[in-house]
Amino acid sequence: MVRLPETQRALIFDQYNGPLEIRNIPIPEPKDDEILVRILYSGICHTDLHVWLGEMESMTTAPLVGGHEGAGEVIEVGAKVRDWKVGDRAGIKLFNNHCLSCEPCKNGYEQNCKASQNYGFTRGGTFQEYLVIRAIDAAKIPSHTNLAEAAPIMCAGVTVYKALKQSEVKPGQTVVLTGAGGGLGSLGIQFAKAMGMRVVAIDNKIKKDHCLELGAEWFVDGFDTENVIKTVIELTDGGAHGVVNLASAKKPMEQTFEYVRENGVIVFVGLPKDSKITLDTSPFIFRGLTLKGSIVGNRADVDEAMDFVARGIVKVPLEKVKLEEVAEVYQRMLDGKINSRCVVDLSF
Ligand SMILES: [Zn+2]
Ligand SMILES: [Zn+2]
Repeated sequence: MVRLPETQRALIFDQYNGPLEIRNIPIPEPKDDEILVRILYSGICHTDLHVWLGEMESMTTAPLVGGHEGAGEVIEVGAKVRDWKVGDRAGIKLFNNHCLSCEPCKNGYEQNCKASQNYGFTRGGTFQEYLVIRAIDAAKIPSHTNLAEAAPIMCAGVTVYKALKQSEVKPGQTVVLTGAGGGLGSLGIQFAKAMGMRVVAIDNKIKKDHCLELGAEWFVDGFDTENVIKTVIELTDGGAHGVVNLASAKKPMEQTFEYVRENGVIVFVGLPKDSKITLDTSPFIFRGLTLKGSIVGNRADVDEAMDFVARGIVKVPLEKVKLEEVAEVYQRMLDGKINSRCVVDLSF
């Protein structure tokens, strides 16, 4: 058995938008159905920033240790845990402790379970060295997978992968990704291509080469193109079969209804500032459109998304940072100066 230190380092804030401090806190003990995971890497998600700023106050708690994209190694297993052993690699995702008996849980939509407890939201998250998690909620990470790359799959990766599944776009058909050059989009282009979809990437023109290199077939400048709607319809020969909206501005969201083809599916992932956009219902009725919202995914979606990374088909562009640099990363997020996924390295 590994000899554990007395305490562990954790990044804590006492109040929203208050100082982020590293403190020594106790290492929790796993209950019978839990495992203790030594967190080696934790992705920094935009949502962590919004939580810290207090923009999601109704769903979160303070004081809090943030973070919900953890990857590490199992250190201890509870007495009743059967399918995990010490040394296994485990992923920590956002939503956990689902009841597994409500209607969404039973239908494979555990992410919509009202009973969930969420790391980095309602309980201490992955910006600490050790964490307990119910064994059935942890994600298996294959032994040959790069752990730093595995961490962002727990939220960013599964979010965009699930949204692509929800778009119902089939191999050979076209999908538009708005905000394609960002963190989610950079993964989304690769997942979509691996799933056989033909990708139209929409973003700022400075992201053009980046999107094309990742596998987008077409790039549309969402700001300077004279008529984005007409351009997408022409490129896709009549309109895209599906759209995954990752942008959080209203205009690109409203444009999706115009360039999706008949019976197409639009999936909203990005959240605009006050959550509101203008929606004309007529295309939904006359053109048979479907609008869905999607947030993260269930445990099977996490495993599937992880498999693409384990096989080296989807690469996660990374920047490793220290725990004391998280506040700096938040500032860079606010300034729009993040080009890859920042991952806290806790492995030393
Ligand atoms: Zn997240
Ligand atoms: Zn449930």
